[in-house]
Amino acid sequence: MSLKNLSAPTDAASRRAAKPVIVYPAGSMPGPDVTTLESARQTMVKTHELIVPPRDARAFRVARGQFFRIVSIEGPQVGDLNLWNANDLSERFFSGKTRALHGTHVGLGDRVWSTMPYLRPMATISHDTLGWYGFDADGAGIHDVIGTRCDPYTNLLLNGTSYDFCCHSNLARALAAELKLDPATVEHHVHDVLNVFMCTGFTKDTHQYFMKASPVRPGDFIELFAEIDLLGALSACPGGDCSATHSSDAAACHPLKIEIFEPDRARLKDWSWPAPSAYHRHHGAPAAS
Ligand SMILES: [Zn+2]
Repeated sequence: MSLKNLSAPTDAASRRAAKPVIVYPAGSMPGPDVTTLESARQTMVKTHELIVPPRDARAFRVARGQFFRIVSIEGPQVGDLNLWNANDLSERFFSGKTRALHGTHVGLGDRVWSTMPYLRPMATISHDTLGWYGFDADGAGIHDVIGTRCDPYTNLLLNGTSYDFCCHSNLARALAAELKLDPATVEHHVHDVLNVFMCTGFTKDTHQYFMKASPVRPGDFIELFAEIDLLGALSACPGGDCSATHSSDAAACHPLKIEIFEPDRARLKDWSWPAPSAYHRHHGAPAAS
C-alpha cells in the first residue's frame, strides 16, 4: 500500500461541481425573542463582578434569567469559556453542534447549545461590541467555536515541554476550586470552549486553523443571557491577544472581567425557558418485552 495520492478519475470535475447545501439551515429554527431580551436588558442591574487574572481562570455562577458579560480591561486578551448546567455537570457546552448550527464564529442572537441528550440553548448572545468586525480579508472572524483550548497534552506532544498554565489547566484549577476537588479529578469536565474575542479562520490554501491579533480593546464586551442555571469558568489565555504564541509565558497577557446582571423579572414573564430535547432516546432499539 502506498501513501501517494492516486490520480483523479476522469469524472473528477463533475463530482467536484456538486452544489453546496447548508447542513443545518439555522434560519429555520425558532430564534430568540430579541424584543423581550432587549426590554429586559434595559432594566438590568449589576449584582456581581469578578476579575480573571492573566494565565489563570475563575469559576462563576449565573442564575437562569440573568445576563453576564465578559469584558476586556487593560489590554487585548482572549478568553476561553466553559459552561455547564449548574445542577448537572453532564450537560455542558457543545462547541461542535453550536458551530454546525450557527457557523465558525458566533455573535448577536446566536445560541450556545448544550450536549446531547439535552441539546438546548444554555445561553443566548444578547450584545457584542465586536459585532462590526464580521469576516475580514483573511476570512477571520471573532468569538470562535472552532478551536478546542490550549492544553498541556498537545503542548507536550508538539514541543516536548510541560507548561501548566494553558487554558485547559486553568479551567481545571478553577473548576476544582469551585467544587473543592483537585484538578486531575475534575479535568474530564473541561470541554471545548467558546473562544471569546479570539480572531481565527482557516488558511485559503491548506485550510489550516490560524489565529491573528484580536481586535478587542478595553471596554469591549460580549454579553450572554442565561437560559438555564449556569456554572461557568473563564480562562485568560496565556496567548494574550493570540497574535503569536500560546502555551508559554512569552505573550503579553491581561486580566478579563466578568459582570453579572439581574433584570426586572417581570419583563421575562412570557419567556419560553428551554427544556431538554424531547427525543425519546430509544435509538431504534427493539422495545423491551
Ligand atoms: Zn488558551
